[in-house]
Amino acid sequence: MNLEDLIRPNIKRMKPYSSARSEYQGKAEVWLDANENPYERKLESLSLNRYPNPKAHALRQAVAEWKGVSAEQVFLGNGSDEIIDLLFRLFCVPGQSQTILCQPTYGMYAVSAALNDVATASILLGEDGQPKLEEVLQVEDENTPLLWLCSPNNPTGISIEEDRIRAILGSFSGIVVVDEAYIDFSDKESCIKLLGDYPNLVVMQTFSKARGLAGIRVGMAFASAELITWLDRIKPPYNLNSISQQIALEAIRESGNQAQEILKIRLERKRLRGALETLPGIKQILQSDANFLLLELDNPGGLRNYLLQQGIVTRDRSGLPHGDFLRITVGTENENDLLIRACAEYFAGSKLEKSMS
Ligand SMILES: *Cc1c(COP(=O)(O)O)cnc(C)c1O
Repeated sequence: MNLEDLIRPNIKRMKPYSSARSEYQGKAEVWLDANENPYERKLESLSLNRYPNPKAHALRQAVAEWKGVSAEQVFLGNGSDEIIDLLFRLFCVPGQSQTILCQPTYGMYAVSAALNDVATASILLGEDGQPKLEEVLQVEDENTPLLWLCSPNNPTGISIEEDRIRAILGSFSGIVVVDEAYIDFSDKESCIKLLGDYPNLVVMQTFSKARGLAGIRVGMAFASAELITWLDRIKPPYNLNSISQQIALEAIRESGNQAQEILKIRLERKRLRGALETLPGIKQILQSDANFLLLELDNPGGLRNYLLQQGIVTRDRSGLPHGDFLRITVGTENENDLLIRACAEYFAGSKLEKSMS
């Protein structure tokens, strides 16, 4: 694969923005280069009157050590959602390219594709949650620079087998993105270890889910150093604010605390499944490697509305290719107890209604 051949032509010609702080990174006493307000505004040790480090240098270094890659293989975005958009802009030509999605999957890939005027070619995940290589190759043409895999997948919760991912990486001639937003809830290994074998691989992770920091908007991408330099050329100069950089750094230093939470969520996932499985109206609960369960029901909207009346918000995923589902995030022990009780009441009530009609 020649990466340059895949880059959108106008981006290949584009001269990137050079921010004041990316031109000079050293230590100085007087900073008069970026039209900042000189009067200090501090949050703990952060100088908020100054622009953030444009490449989030310290955070990239810490993420690299944490994940066992080099800092040159790390890109950080204002959430994974920004990285998704940047990947479309980097590789896809508006009005000309198409991208491959494996449905059902995370909605932002299609939204971002539409926003960039990129057509989507969808293939269906099997009942086992796996994409088929033959189907990928059937829809691939010379205008297909980008393919999305989500593992564990949202909304199914099922992980894509490593052999499948390798087969697609080896045969597809464009970039394959593996979105691992939920990887920390799973026993499976990250695809980061495949980076050395496949120059067309991009792995995404995020601080939003297992790390408990959805509010700071920090997403991570891992890829070849060459691909990362292209993302750096097109990103907004200060896409990660100072506060988020600092909080993400602290989270990496304290990752032991999150390990406890992740363990608790995984145990609750098991308990929640066990309790819901005993209820009569639930057809099946898919195997989940993530922090949510996907329940197959006759009428997910009915249960969703009942739960809403009890103050419990869930996500109706009716009309998926393999059936009608409700997606429920694993909450705290107390939240899950409330959910289980409300579901039990709903199904007891609907049985009553049926027997009376
Ligand atoms: C929640 C989620 C993300 C996270 O996006 P952020 O912008 O990092 O918060 C990414 N991918 C998938 C599949 C998700 O479900």
